[in-house]
Amino acid sequence: MDYSGLFPDETLTSFIVRQLYFCGYPHIRIAQNDFWGSDNRQINSPFPSLIPWISDNFNIERNVLLKNHTSLNYFKPFLGQSKYQLVKQALLTGDVEFVQKWLGITSNRVKAGGSLYYCLECANEDLKQYGVAYWHRKHQMYGLIICPVHGQELRETQVTRRHVALPPQQHCELKESAVLLPNHFANFSHWALTQSDFDMFDYERLTNCYRLELFNKEFACKSLRIRQKCLREDLQDHYAAELKHAAWQTLFTTNKTYPYPCQLFYNYHDCHFHPAKHLALMAYLFSTPESFLSKYYCANEELESHFNSHTVKRERTNNTVKNKLILNLFRQGKSLRNIAKQMKLSVTAVKSKVVAGGGKVKSRAAKVFEPDRRAILRKLMMGVPTGDIAKGFNLSTGAIEQVLTQHPELVELRKYLRFRAKQMTHRKLLSKAVKEFPRYTRNQLKKKI
Ligand SMILES: [Zn+2]
Repeated sequence: MDYSGLFPDETLTSFIVRQLYFCGYPHIRIAQNDFWGSDNRQINSPFPSLIPWISDNFNIERNVLLKNHTSLNYFKPFLGQSKYQLVKQALLTGDVEFVQKWLGITSNRVKAGGSLYYCLECANEDLKQYGVAYWHRKHQMYGLIICPVHGQELRETQVTRRHVALPPQQHCELKESAVLLPNHFANFSHWALTQSDFDMFDYERLTNCYRLELFNKEFACKSLRIRQKCLREDLQDHYAAELKHAAWQTLFTTNKTYPYPCQLFYNYHDCHFHPAKHLALMAYLFSTPESFLSKYYCANEELESHFNSHTVKRERTNNTVKNKLILNLFRQGKSLRNIAKQMKLSVTAVKSKVVAGGGKVKSRAAKVFEPDRRAILRKLMMGVPTGDIAKGFNLSTGAIEQVLTQHPELVELRKYLRFRAKQMTHRKLLSKAVKEFPRYTRNQLKKKI
């Protein structure tokens, strides 16, 4: 038996454990001390610091270890180039202190710890072919409960960080009935680990792709706003079996501002979410990674054509029928209040439709002259609060709001600007606190700001 190389898909932990077990030392601790001068090394980590040691002692290229025996590939498309390079360098040099943080494992609170997983059928095959059952990468991905190859429920072995363990080393008889149905999530996770179709995700394109598919499944309206509550409920139903596991409960944990999966659609510019969060939504929306990819590639173009067709349609139905009726009533001399009652709309809504259609309403808003209107628009675009603008122009807030309702795109923009402003303030406070108290934990920092 040749123990000097790694088996297909074997984790680094597994290889290290095998060296300790089969190196012929009388005790594992003696082996550890002899190998790397300490018996206190963290072995059971998805990203152990031992890449340089393995590479130097077994003459295996560091890049090969990284690519074929860690789950870096699984994280890569979600990381962005700069963070990816950072993590890669850290792993290649063995300086892994911040790797979990950079990968978003800490911030997403999805630290999978304390357990290693194996599949009985894979273990049987390994025993037959290699004489030893070892830990596979493909079974250790977050939230996996079945083997992506065999559909068998994964078995769990609890380990501490320094524990030295392998899967059970005896052949197990399998019951026919134990075979589960293929699981989309496991397939998508396995694909993420092994794919070479593309490099990094473009988040704009990715969320567009989700939105379009959610529209097809009636979880988004024509404007592609997502029905978050319905979606979350349906996702919970879909993953009911998985949600019995703690890892999935963590994945679905609600965050007050942006519960899952709503969080994937906002704030993606600055946070990166754990791949499992994306993969769970992908596997729910698409039947295969291939079908997802084909939609992903044409998402931006499809989004454009979606908006073209639906805006035209909406304008035709809404504007031409309802708005024309409102304008006609207005021209017949009916009061805004009467029209509002008849159309079951608010007076403000009727007023803005009349103004948008060229009707002259005797109101303060109508007295907003063109140069003022342009100046107001500029202020609105900068995100200045309507009340402040009103004060500056000596107009009512209602008048400013009316200008705003005539430009619905500004409403979205202002929402985003407000969000960014809030985020910037928060971030400034945070980085100040981090500098001031570098040794504080997340929770201590949270209390501080
Ligand atoms: Zn298997």
